[in-house]
Amino acid sequence: EQPIIAKREVTQYILKRFGLHMNKRLGQNFLIDPAVVSGIVDAAEINSDDVVLEIGPGIGTLTQGLLEAGAEVFAVELDKRLPTILEHTLEGYENFHVINADILKTDIRTLTGGRSFKVAANLPYYITTPIIMYLLEEQLPITKLVTMVQKEVAERMTAAPGSKIYGALSVAVQYYSCAHICFDVDPQSFMPKPEVESSVILCDVYQERPVRPVDEKMFFRVVKAAFGQRRKTLSNSLGNLGVTKELIREILLESEIDDKRRGETLSLQEFAAIADNFSKR
Ligand code: SAM
Repeated sequence: EQPIIAKREVTQYILKRFGLHMNKRLGQNFLIDPAVVSGIVDAAEINSDDVVLEIGPGIGTLTQGLLEAGAEVFAVELDKRLPTILEHTLEGYENFHVINADILKTDIRTLTGGRSFKVAANLPYYITTPIIMYLLEEQLPITKLVTMVQKEVAERMTAAPGSKIYGALSVAVQYYSCAHICFDVDPQSFMPKPEVESSVILCDVYQERPVRPVDEKMFFRVVKAAFGQRRKTLSNSLGNLGVTKELIREILLESEIDDKRRGETLSLQEFAAIADNFSKR
């Protein structure tokens, strides 16, 4: 029987035992709240059939919860001091594989042997957005992605059109998945305490996307241009695509979208309509 790692005393003991000093630059804030670990495991609906990719296992706090639920876990950790420590803290658990690498440079498809998998992570906050975008854009066989992120990022990911924080990140996340915030997490649940509030977000990755532009690249180019200059109307911001005002006017008319509107009010369907009319030219 292994003790539960997600406790202040146990975490302190492990740090001391292995002489580990946390590296702030790597976003190392370890969970010390077992309720948060089980909250993540429950949100991801982990069971013994699951293959899970964990990003940044640290000393194995969340990993232990995933393994206890019976999953096979592939954990990618950048800090080269941690794999040896994990061998001790997770000793006795089968189905645990640690890979010492940068997640953004990892060939995840090969790692998981082409099987479909879930992602669970308490993300390093300095690269939250790049990691989430990498996982979604690679179009990996992911079913659910459950991650701890800054509360403010969680809110941007799930923001609806018209809201002040709706932006390119909201569109990208909602293009690939149905996303919602599961619960908020207090800084007290981590060691050391982060300076920001956190939230756990669940992205149910679409197997069939509801919005299907003819040309995905064009869709994201339109989105990028529309949010590039937030306070401008569409007729101005889409000028960034290097086309004439006249063409933009025609395309917006064909798409039945008022050219006085701003990008931040457009639904994914409306962005797709504009992109499709551009593609036709
Ligand atoms: N999972 C542990 C927990 O919940 O207590 C640790 C989470 S801590 C917030 C983030 C972890 O991500 C750290 O262990 C850090 O070393 C690791 N990390 C940072 N950058 C990384 C990267 N580019 N690739 C993989 N892991 C990374």
